[in-house]
Amino acid sequence: MNRIKMKVPVVEMDGDEMTRVLWRWIKEILIEPYVDLKTEYYDLGLPNRDATDDEVTVKSAEAVKKYGVAVKCATITPNAQRVEEYKLKKMWKSPNGTIRRILDGTVFRAPIIVKGITPYVGGWKKPIVLGRHAYGDIYNSVEDRIGAGEKAYLVVCGKDGGEIRRQLIHDFSDGCGIVQGVHNLDGSVAAFARSCFNYALENNLPVWMGAKDTISKIYDHRFKDIFNEIYENEFKRKFESAGLYFMYTLIDDVVARVIRSDGGFLWVCKNYDGDVMSDMVATAYGSLGMMSSVLVSPDGMYEYEAAHGTVTRHYYKHLEGQETSTNSVATIWAWTGALKKRGELDGNSALVEFAERLERATVRTIEEGYMTGDLIPLFKAEGVTPVKLNSQEFLKAIAERI
Ligand code: NAP
Ligand code: MG
Repeated sequence: MNRIKMKVPVVEMDGDEMTRVLWRWIKEILIEPYVDLKTEYYDLGLPNRDATDDEVTVKSAEAVKKYGVAVKCATITPNAQRVEEYKLKKMWKSPNGTIRRILDGTVFRAPIIVKGITPYVGGWKKPIVLGRHAYGDIYNSVEDRIGAGEKAYLVVCGKDGGEIRRQLIHDFSDGCGIVQGVHNLDGSVAAFARSCFNYALENNLPVWMGAKDTISKIYDHRFKDIFNEIYENEFKRKFESAGLYFMYTLIDDVVARVIRSDGGFLWVCKNYDGDVMSDMVATAYGSLGMMSSVLVSPDGMYEYEAAHGTVTRHYYKHLEGQETSTNSVATIWAWTGALKKRGELDGNSALVEFAERLERATVRTIEEGYMTGDLIPLFKAEGVTPVKLNSQEFLKAIAERI
């Protein structure tokens, strides 16, 4: 068969455990028979991160800056137990965190919608994509406990260190307590706004955003102002001619509207709201195995991945020689996302069409009743009795439908 040629490579970031196993099978069964795959390979598996003192992670992120498109397998973020298990030199940082810092990107998570797997929220018919700001607020905060009788102030100093102004946060004369100092940067919020508006235009989605500007009249209000300013000056005309809109409202109002909605928008969240709400949205759509994720940098670099982890429990079963039924859909979507984007950038329509065909074949496999174990209890379609396949059988069932 004539395989589809690629002009520019995709940056390939391999990972750990069960997802590393799926990674190889997805390539062998679903991609390489059809595409003459061109990748620049980086092994982000924990043993190689340890062997290279985590240099490989930094190099892979730099390669994304060079080529513009990457696909990443789930990776272990080591904790004390992993340091022991893998005999690591050090408790290396989260590779996703490192890559996000280097690319200064925003993560967008979108559910993969299949007939028969209905969200827990009855009205949701279309995907709700969540964009989370990944800088500042409580994630870079300083905190303290304050004793009874002490006072806490917010103090601002000039370049020379001299005090310019101070406000009393609280006089703790009535009893001891706690304080917290958080910050954000206009530049980071502006980059976030541009990433969100660009993503929405590309994916044809209106944008909903919420913060608490009525209570936080300077801090949250700044988010509202920066988003409004950038929308008015840079995006409004493009949005209107695409029939899209941007809506800012209070976060509580957004939450109420989201639940009542039928989906089909980008929900832009401040860091903490995004942390909490992304787990709510993912759970409400059914399965972590059906949630795709992409990191988009403000200068238009893309890194595609699954939203779930390395599925450790399944990996240990696999190592014991037992069959697993691990959902590969989100990892397939990481590959199709990257191939589609590569195809778009290079004017390679055959590659775009292949990626779309692979997605349709995957959806059809599940809609015809063939799926992995995690989806069986969620699947309800008249006249179709779901069949549980093991990890490889599922991939082969998709291949039959390509
Ligand atoms: P996880 O790998 O997402 O798995 C948690 C549980 O969710 C699994 O045990 C499984 O439940 C279910 N699950 C997740 N993905 C599934 C899939 N594709 N198919 C079927 N079931 C799936 O999260 P974790 O156990 O908290 O973390 C494991 C490792 O992944 C950790 O070392 C963590 O650092 C890493 N991690 C990496 C990323 C990333 O690279 N983006 C993200 C999160 C976590 P059952 O066991 O009930 O079947
Ligand atoms: Mg969370």
